[in-house]
Amino acid sequence: MKTKKAGFATRAIHVGQEPDQLTGAVAPPIFATSTFVQQEIGKHKGYEYARVSNPTRDRLEQNLAALEGGVAAKVFASGMAAINAIVTTLKAGDHVVCGHNLYGGTPRLFNQVWADFGLEFSYVDTSEVRNVERAIQKNTRMVFIETPTNPLMALTDIQAVSRVCRPKKVDLVVDNTFMSPYFQQPIALGADMVVHSTTKFLNGHSDGLGGVVVCTRPVQVEKLAFLQKAAGAILSPFECWLILRGVKTLAARMKQHDESGRQVAAFLAGHKKVKKVFYPGLADHPQHDLAKRQMSGFGAMISFETGSLSNANKMLRRVKVCSLGESLGGVETLISHPATMTHAAVGEKGRKAIGITDGLVRISVGIEDVGDIVEDMEQALAGI
Ligand SMILES: *Cc1c(COP(=O)(O)O)cnc(C)c1O
Repeated sequence: MKTKKAGFATRAIHVGQEPDQLTGAVAPPIFATSTFVQQEIGKHKGYEYARVSNPTRDRLEQNLAALEGGVAAKVFASGMAAINAIVTTLKAGDHVVCGHNLYGGTPRLFNQVWADFGLEFSYVDTSEVRNVERAIQKNTRMVFIETPTNPLMALTDIQAVSRVCRPKKVDLVVDNTFMSPYFQQPIALGADMVVHSTTKFLNGHSDGLGGVVVCTRPVQVEKLAFLQKAAGAILSPFECWLILRGVKTLAARMKQHDESGRQVAAFLAGHKKVKKVFYPGLADHPQHDLAKRQMSGFGAMISFETGSLSNANKMLRRVKVCSLGESLGGVETLISHPATMTHAAVGEKGRKAIGITDGLVRISVGIEDVGDIVEDMEQALAGI
């Protein structure tokens, strides 16, 4: 389908989702095969071995490239495998400037794996563009950011950072997992690559892991395709199919996530036991204006301060509609405790430095009836 000009939901439902040519099946087939038969030496139908390429995977890669506005996309076995592939394109001695409040697994990979291979990482508060500018060195090859951040929901001005990076030939990579391409289009704002944990909103049903890198230049596509083949952290055809199915409802889900997110944030902001709410959609969020400019919605991710670890636990043990667990972006409301879950690996000192307290609770508002979510939060907060 030629859908360059089609709307977002249309692209999500149709790009890479064309009916099967052989049978007319409306749902894309899962090509559960490791290899492909060849007609003669060197003559085949474009597929040789499933680590290199697979038709179900090709469909997903086309779809996700169309949603983010990239030239191509490459999918990997998880979000971390996708981020790892990006880092693998660097060389010993290269330097990366990172946001200081990334998904916990990202600095763990950078500091505990890649630092041993001679890559250098600096962490700065990228919500101030001049911090990025100052941190760029002669050997800086990449700036890696998340916006909004997890779990403190601080924003980085993607366009302003890209304007700092471009003249210095530094690649800007944006982890767009929290917003999904429905609410935020980093490539249109100047990003060189976009990465996602498809595990979250893109798949949307908490039933499979995956990761994607969306590219803006053929040289990136070549490198990442080579890494799929050479390192092999590819996504299985079944998982590709799950995400192809998930993205069909991405637009509809994100609209509801956003609407319910705003209502839950407003409820929390007015609750006397909640000391602070972190949500870019609230008028008192310090970057509310940037949020309105950079994103087309505020999404489903909210963090709030309960005051202490014991308060957080008093609340979390009472939830019934919300599920206590790691992860986010599913149709079900997931609630978590960053200090002991997603950001445990950051360490107490690291958490303190960026402001993740023991009383902080993060919620990924699902698409259940919002009244039921609010009622559940209300009865859970009564435990404090
Ligand atoms: C979950 C997550 C990741 C890691 O993805 P996995 O699929 O769990 O490997 C990376 N970045 C962000 C922002 C995430 O939320």
